[in-house]
Order: sequence, then structure tokens, then C-alpha cells
Amino acid sequence: MEKFIIVHELSFSMTVQNVLKKVEELRDEMVDFMVDMIRIKAVNPAFGGEGEEKRAEFLERKLKEICDEVKRYDAVDKNGLKRPNLVGIIYGENRNRTLWIIGHMDTVPEGDLSLWKHDPYDPVVEDGKVYGRGTLDDGQAIVTSYFAARAILDLGMKPKINVGLVYVSDEEAGSQYGVDYLMDKGLFKRNDLVIVPDGGNEDGSFIEIAEKSSMWLKITTIGKQTHASVPQTGINAHRVAMKYALLVDEFLHGKYGKRNTLFAPPESTFEMTKKDANVGNINTIPGKDVFYFDFRVIPGYSLDDILEDMRRIASLFEEEFGVRIEIEVVSRSDVAPPTEVNSEIVQRLIKALKELRGIEPVPGGIGGGTVAAAFRRIGVPAVVWMTADEVEHQPNEFCRIENLVEDAKVFAYIAMQS
Ligand SMILES: [Zn+2]
Repeated sequence: MEKFIIVHELSFSMTVQNVLKKVEELRDEMVDFMVDMIRIKAVNPAFGGEGEEKRAEFLERKLKEICDEVKRYDAVDKNGLKRPNLVGIIYGENRNRTLWIIGHMDTVPEGDLSLWKHDPYDPVVEDGKVYGRGTLDDGQAIVTSYFAARAILDLGMKPKINVGLVYVSDEEAGSQYGVDYLMDKGLFKRNDLVIVPDGGNEDGSFIEIAEKSSMWLKITTIGKQTHASVPQTGINAHRVAMKYALLVDEFLHGKYGKRNTLFAPPESTFEMTKKDANVGNINTIPGKDVFYFDFRVIPGYSLDDILEDMRRIASLFEEEFGVRIEIEVVSRSDVAPPTEVNSEIVQRLIKALKELRGIEPVPGGIGGGTVAAAFRRIGVPAVVWMTADEVEHQPNEFCRIENLVEDAKVFAYIAMQS
């Protein structure tokens, strides 16, 4: 028995060495793939972009080169635009389970072009980095998952279980036409393993297993406009809104003040953020005021309770000041139960990182919002992990070529583990 285990481990480690070497050999191809992909713009239509369709056509061709099965699930958005989602499967020795790696094709826009050193859509390779919009977020996920599979296949081997490469639309605007659209297609099973490379830290030592609930609110306060010299003839909506904002701020921080050290910061956050313009001139008392809240709430609290409290406070203000306060939910994501630290995917990833990098990874939570929540909600354990500098959504976004290679090794390692 012991001899068997030793032989088994020896052959696993030789297999792994071969696969890791193969990934190294694919380095230049990974860079070329990244450059070709980023040249095909895929800005999310919610931000005025062209969408993911062209990029999906490129990726569908690439998937067909290596996968046993490729399926495309096109959602159609409210403007009639096709929002493709690609699912490529490489059969494993055991076909009853799948290691899913999920990347998103859409990007945020480039923002202020004058802040970029190079054209964000004509990637430049410099100092071991590839610069361009979407290289890190989430191009890295697509390239690393694809080449992890390629390395195994190039050696004429099979992964232990199926490897599922899932490239989705619409992550940057809430995933309605992306991963949410895939959830009822019967693809994902409870004993599958899910990795979402869409967030991480610089040495890959952080494994995200939990997210906070999040909610964006639009608060409209209606008073009565008048001349600033005779305020008693109107109702200053701006003043009431500010009082309301400050009271809600203090109240929520007090009542929902528990801490959870899985997260940094460990407490819920309640922030007033955007403010719409009100009157065009200084000598007018505004009759209408609009501002917004961004809430990130730790597990254990309900967003409904919070909304209820805010409505109650609003009605007190309406009575006292004679205004009307409307609370509109702009977006909302209720927390999914965290992935357990001792779940298989977390443990496999920890093992891979110890073995390949000699590091001791730390599982933890973030302020939120990745597609992992959708899997956790249906009871499939999911982790968010990648090796990344914090440059997503910024000008001069880049991904490190070293991280492409090293993260691909981690995925290949996990796919070869029995
Ligand atoms: Zn992302």
C-alpha cells in the first residue's frame, strides 16, 4: 500500500513537472493571445460600449481548437443586443465533476484617454507587462484558464475531472446577461469546483471566500423652490436631505455596527457618494435634491431591515419638515453564504499555492461583487483568486506576464490533482 502511494505521488509530481514546463513554453503564445483579444473592444453596453459579441467570436474559435464541447448561450439585453456567454468543456478522466474557471469578457471604458501612455486597445508589451484596457480585468482569467488547459492537452494528457472554461458577458454591470443567465441552464453541480479569477493580491496569497451584501440607493427629497432671500416661503430640500443623510449615516453605523474579521474593513460601510446637481444659481432655494448611498453590509444583516429603517426615518422627516423623501434601489446584491474554509476548492488552491509558491494563503472576504456570489447562492462553493496588482478600471491597466504564466500553472496543477 505504502509503495503504491509513493509510486502514485512520484508519478503525480513528474506529471506536474511536465505540465509546469509546458506552461512555461507557452509564455509567448499567452502574450499574443492577450494582445489579439484586447484589440477586439468589448466595453459593456451599460457604459456606452459595443458589447462582447466580436470578442466572443474570437474566443469561440479559440475554444473550439481545444475543447471537446463548446456551447454558446446568448442573452438578449433590453436594447436587443446579443450578450454571448461561452462554455467550453474539456473532458476529464472522470466526467462526473467539473473544475469551472470563470472569466468575464466585458470591460469598463478606458476613461480619460489623456491619462493613458498607450492606446488602451492596442496593447503594448513593456517591462514584462501587457498594457491595455481589460488585460487584468478580466483578460488574465481568460488567458490563464485557457493555457492551463492547453498545457495539459499539448502533452496528450487529460485533466482528472472535466475542465470547464466559462467566458461570460456583463460582469461589470451586474451580470444579468452574463453569469446570472447561465444559472438555470443546469451546467453547474453542487460537487463541482469553481474558481473566479477576478480579484486578488500581488503575491496570490489572498483567497476570497466571502462577499458583503451591497446596495446602491437614490434618495430624492422634494421640498419647495423659492428665492434665497425669502426661505420661509419655500422648503429647502437640500438642507433636509443633508440632515437626513447624516442621521441615516449615524443610525446605520450604530445599529448595524457588528464586525466580522474575515473582511477588510471588518465592518459594514454606509457611504453617501454621488450628488446630482440641483439649482443652477446660488440665490435659489432648491426644491428638489438627489443624492446616493453605497452600502456594503457584512453577512448576518438583512438589506430589507436597513431599507425599512431608512423608510421609517424618512417618514419622520416628511412629517417634521413637510418634504417628500423617495428611496429608490438602484442596485442590490444580497449576500450569499460564504464558501467554507475547509471546502475542497479552497483546500486544493491552498495546497497548490504552498506547493508551487511556498506561500501560506489566507482566505478572507471583500466588499464585494463578483460572479462567485451567484455560485454560492446555488450552493456551489466558489473562490475568487488571481495574482494581481490593483490596476483594474484604472488608466494604464496592465497584467504581468509572470502572473499569466504562474497563475496558469496553479490552474493546471489543480486540474491534475486527483
Ligand atoms: Zn472583473
